[in-house]
Amino acid sequence: MITESQYDDKAVDFREMVAAGDYFLHTLKKGQVIRILDLEGNQAADTLFFNAEDPGERYSAMDTIREQGNVYLTAGSVLRSNENNPMLEIIADTCGRHDTLGGACATESNTVRYALEKRCMHACRDSWMLAIAEHPEYGLDKRDISHNINFFMNVPVTEAGGLTFADGISAPGKYVEMRACMDVIVLISNCPQLNNPCNGYNPTPVAVLIWDQ
Ligand SMILES: [Zn+2]
Repeated sequence: MITESQYDDKAVDFREMVAAGDYFLHTLKKGQVIRILDLEGNQAADTLFFNAEDPGERYSAMDTIREQGNVYLTAGSVLRSNENNPMLEIIADTCGRHDTLGGACATESNTVRYALEKRCMHACRDSWMLAIAEHPEYGLDKRDISHNINFFMNVPVTEAGGLTFADGISAPGKYVEMRACMDVIVLISNCPQLNNPCNGYNPTPVAVLIWDQ
C-alpha cells in the first residue's frame, strides 16, 4: 500500500548514509520514527531488529506473517517479535512491498546458488557479523543473527508456492518508514549481492533518517 510520509525531511533529527556493502547499527527509542531511503533504486536493505532491553527478543518473520495474514510487508504492517510483541509499525511506504521470506545472502548460500568461486564474495551475513564484533556493547552474538526483512527487495511467491528473486519494484527516492513500539536495536546490512537482481547488479548507498517523534 503506497502511503506518503507525514514527516518533514528538513526537521530530521538524525541522518546517516550507509555505503553499499556497509552496515548500520543503532538503538531506536520507543516512539522514534526511522526512514530507510533507497537513494538510487533497487537496493536491498537486509534488516534485523532486537529488543534493546533483551536482545533475545528479536524480529520474527513467522509471527509477523501469521498475525497480518500476508507474506509481504508494507504500510500498516506491524513487525512482531518472537514473543509476538509489536516491535515497529510501518507507517509510510512509497515502494509498496518488502520481502521477509527470502533471507539474507551468505557466503554459503552464494556458493550453493551460484558457484563455488562466489564463496569469497562479500555477503550480508558477513556485514552483520562484523557489526556485532565491532560493537560488543550491544550484547549481540552469532546466534542472534536470524531471519530478517529485505526492504525494497522483490521476492514474489509463485502460484506453485515457490520463491523467485525478481527485478526490483523500488526506484530512486523510494522509502519505507517505521515507528518504534519499543526500544529497538536496528541492524541493517546494505546488501553487497552481485549475483541476483535484488540490487540491480549494482549495489548503491541508502540513507537512514530518524525523527525523535
Ligand atoms: Zn545481501
